[in-house]
Amino acid sequence: MHGAARIPFALPDIGEDEISAVTEAMRSGWLTSGPRMKEFESAFAEFIGSGVETVSVNSATAGLHLAMEALDIGPGDEVLVPTWTFTATAEVVRYLGATPVLVDVEPDTLNLDLAAAAALVTDRTRAVMPVHFAGLPVAPGPLRDFASRHGLNVVEDAAHALPAARDGELVGSGDSAATVFSFYATKTITTGEGGMIVTRDPDLAHRARVMRLHGISRDAFDRYRSELPAWRYDVIAPGFKYNLTDPAAAMGLVQLGRAESMRSAREDISRRYDEALQGLPLTLPPHGPSGTRHAWHLYVVRLHEDAPHGRDTLIERLAALGVGTSVHFIPLHLQPYWRDLTGARPIDFPVASDTFERCLSLPLYSSMSTSDVDRVIDMVTQELT
Ligand SMILES: *Cc1c(COP(=O)(O)O)cnc(C)c1O
Repeated sequence: MHGAARIPFALPDIGEDEISAVTEAMRSGWLTSGPRMKEFESAFAEFIGSGVETVSVNSATAGLHLAMEALDIGPGDEVLVPTWTFTATAEVVRYLGATPVLVDVEPDTLNLDLAAAAALVTDRTRAVMPVHFAGLPVAPGPLRDFASRHGLNVVEDAAHALPAARDGELVGSGDSAATVFSFYATKTITTGEGGMIVTRDPDLAHRARVMRLHGISRDAFDRYRSELPAWRYDVIAPGFKYNLTDPAAAMGLVQLGRAESMRSAREDISRRYDEALQGLPLTLPPHGPSGTRHAWHLYVVRLHEDAPHGRDTLIERLAALGVGTSVHFIPLHLQPYWRDLTGARPIDFPVASDTFERCLSLPLYSSMSTSDVDRVIDMVTQELT
């Protein structure tokens, strides 16, 4: 390594502006949800446009849970979930006692395969949860047709997809029941932990706002602002504790203002990878049709059969050379809990099962220097030629 620092797989891009904003929030005395949370929600709604409502939460997992709860998903219901995702997508379905039905993905995009999904629809299917894998959006038209043909609610897991657009539609601006973004530390914008529900359904937004704070009909902010006495509130349901704090929202406000420039930096890195790695025995990630705005949360390559190393060995060798990588994802049907719950077999998910053996995610973050990108390129090239 010649003394060069290790290149991590991911790194949050936090500058002095984020640090000042958080410090200011702390000095203000509002440590829980307050004016900055409201401001972040308004700024996010404006960023997505189309008159959407926004409900901030302390994780995307919480947001997905609240969206499904607001749709009254419960025992006996089935929800279509791609097997190629993080466990959070399916886990929220279990929180509500409903059953996730795992679906294979398209070979090129690794997004939900709508034909495979159609074959799994039953009279108990209530919703579908597409994931915009790596930041490449699911085609909005076919998704909408699929959902309306089968009478399903759509809750988009947009944890990778800020900002991302396809066919002229920014992810979050469509007419799905809800779209949920993640602000986890490694995601495209971060609040440390956090998430946002975006919806055009005022009832869903209202229910999610009530349920994110104990099922109380007014949140703490309103309680200290309204004309009614501050101590008076009504509990209308056994809710959750999912609210986003003001220091986190302050960080989010600065990050949101940088979302497009950070996306563009990740896109530049992806193009540099594309050009340098194209001759190697691996498949490069898809860009989507022209006009696609890819969020480039992840850069996932797939090794060919004739590559000199298998995936696991390559990961070990790159780690020894100081390059961090990861695997997105270990598909849900290979995880013990989901395998046992659903009775899934690898042959039922040919694309995901095969891709899992061969895929790895290279380092990609907006603050990554060109010399670090080139070091990764050199190491990968050295190992695969
Ligand atoms: C990160 C992630 C989540 C969960 O996000 P949190 O904000 O950590 O709860 C959900 N789905 C996918 C696809 C993710 O990558």
